[in-house]
Amino acid sequence: PQIKPQPVIRQLDEAAINRIAAGEVVERPASAVKELVENAVDAGATRIEVVIADGGKTLIRVTDNGCGIASNDLPLALSRHATSKIDGSDLLNIHSFGFRGEALPSLGAVGRLTITSRAQGQDAAVISVDGGRMSAVKPAAVTAGTIVELRDLFYATPARLKFLRTDRAENQAITDVVKRLSMAEPFVTFILRDVSGGDSRTVFRTDSETGDLFDALHGRLRSVLGRDFAENALAIDAERDGFHLTGYAALPTYSRGAAVAQFLFVNGRPVRDRMLLGALRAAYMDVLSRDRHPVAALFVDCEPELVDVNVHPAKSEVRFRDPGAVRGLIVSGLRHALAGAGHRASTTVAG
Ligand code: ADP
Ligand code: MG
Repeated sequence: PQIKPQPVIRQLDEAAINRIAAGEVVERPASAVKELVENAVDAGATRIEVVIADGGKTLIRVTDNGCGIASNDLPLALSRHATSKIDGSDLLNIHSFGFRGEALPSLGAVGRLTITSRAQGQDAAVISVDGGRMSAVKPAAVTAGTIVELRDLFYATPARLKFLRTDRAENQAITDVVKRLSMAEPFVTFILRDVSGGDSRTVFRTDSETGDLFDALHGRLRSVLGRDFAENALAIDAERDGFHLTGYAALPTYSRGAAVAQFLFVNGRPVRDRMLLGALRAAYMDVLSRDRHPVAALFVDCEPELVDVNVHPAKSEVRFRDPGAVRGLIVSGLRHALAGAGHRASTTVAG
């Protein structure tokens, strides 16, 4: 019988490692937009502009007015597992979107990436990376904040390029990502522009809200989900076992034929979590027929150690220390609000 020759074990080089990691982190243009907008939010930006062309396939440019990156740190920002957001000793205590230090090196491995930035009190500088090869840092002209430009996503990985959908479908996914992120950040202005074919078209824009968080959130949801939602939504505010539930949930009369308008956030992070969606469904069980779906934007907040967000780099899954408590909080918090509204509705009719 033939014996397989002993293979040689080799250490992969950084470019290959980044390209493999990119497969996990960057599935499509919308995942790149998500990573870049999250970085802008983490940088404390109050204005974030996303410019795309051709479904994000040829151009994604995110401009923010956040803290910027010191020119000395630019090569580090493009290095794997380099992050300013955690020190590695406390993975249970994460307050930012980012912490893996994977997004920028991954994007630089599968596209042409240029970062222009200016940190306070520093000179502006630019660095670029193309197919994994990094340029030197050069002086640049930018007043404050950061511009990250990603061109020709996946040109270095043609297999991935082939699996992208139409520009229209990719645009839709990008719009969805920007809208979702904007819901959790009412004090930040978000702008999404499409410059395909040389035209400039505003796809989405929501301006920073003022007032306290609850008012700002209501304003933001009105802006993103529409006036009808805002006018049919009940304010939710409940607490249990260290978990805080806030947000707005629509009256049963303002339901949808599909579960397309359910926005859930954990510590400000958009998630699509089966347990949370199930809890939302359960809360409306008695007041909605089976073919109708509630509309809601709900925010679960807790100390970082009560939830593990370290489940998957790109997937929006979370793991709660005590899922039963979170489920109970959502079901009881929403039922309480719905019951209160029912009571008000009937007294109005009687009066
Ligand atoms: P992570 O977000 O997990 O730290 P990234 O690869 O996304 O990893 O970014 C690496 C580092 O680059 C960040 O930790 C941060 O210090 C810096 N950075 C990235 N984007 C921005 C930005 N828009 N503004 C300021 N700093 C940024
Ligand atoms: Mg990041």
